[in-house]
Amino acid sequence: MRPHRAFVEVIRSEVELSGREAHHLLEVLRAREGDFLGVFDGKGLEGRARVLQLEQGFVRLQVVETWPARKEPPQPITLFVALLKGDHLADVVRAATELGASRIVPILTQHCVVRELSENKLLRLRRVVLEAAKQCERSVVPEVTPMLPLNEVPTIDQGFVAHPRVSLRVRDAYNPEKPTALLTGPEGGLSDAEIGFLEKKGFTPVTLGPRILRAETAPIALLSLITAAEGL
Ligand code: SAM
Repeated sequence: MRPHRAFVEVIRSEVELSGREAHHLLEVLRAREGDFLGVFDGKGLEGRARVLQLEQGFVRLQVVETWPARKEPPQPITLFVALLKGDHLADVVRAATELGASRIVPILTQHCVVRELSENKLLRLRRVVLEAAKQCERSVVPEVTPMLPLNEVPTIDQGFVAHPRVSLRVRDAYNPEKPTALLTGPEGGLSDAEIGFLEKKGFTPVTLGPRILRAETAPIALLSLITAAEGL
């Protein structure tokens, strides 16, 4: 069997898989009794487990060792990202999971073309982050929250909003010892009033370079400046 990581709600000495996880192990990976695989609970616990029993739609595992998450940034990173057209939000949450975001908050801003996030779309985004977490070997699955209007973004201690008309670089303002909030705007950008509001909430406007990035590129660029660039 190829190396596999199964998501389990709670890691105990014995765990049972059903639904998609069991189907994937049985039908796609053709697991057999005695095979070993990885397990993770999405909240920061990781482990190794042996297959004890396989039946149609049901797999029982014995967890042989566990360890806490080793691949998380030392401080949580929340990504506030404007609603985007098409399937771009799915691409953003997938990459944001790989880049270490701990929470992703879709936001509604003045110039968003898309104005709602349906329950189905939210569920799909949550499935995307779960699959991305498996693939990138994270044991924390980032939370994807329902949509939040920008005027409900809370006051934060350290935050950066990507804004094309400033020259401050993230690296000249970022403190790795504090939790961080990041925010990027929609295709039509953020209004001056929105930038002013965010500054009052603790967000510092920062540049992502002299070129205008697409709304789906900007959140990934901004997050990369914190995690990939700092080795977090
Ligand atoms: N005409 C819009 C404007 O001037 O804001 C462009 C919006 S851009 C397509 C979408 C979002 O990406 C922006 O709201 C901003 O958050 C971010 N962004 C794109 N390029 C950027 C850059 N060079 N520096 C900082 N932020 C950028």
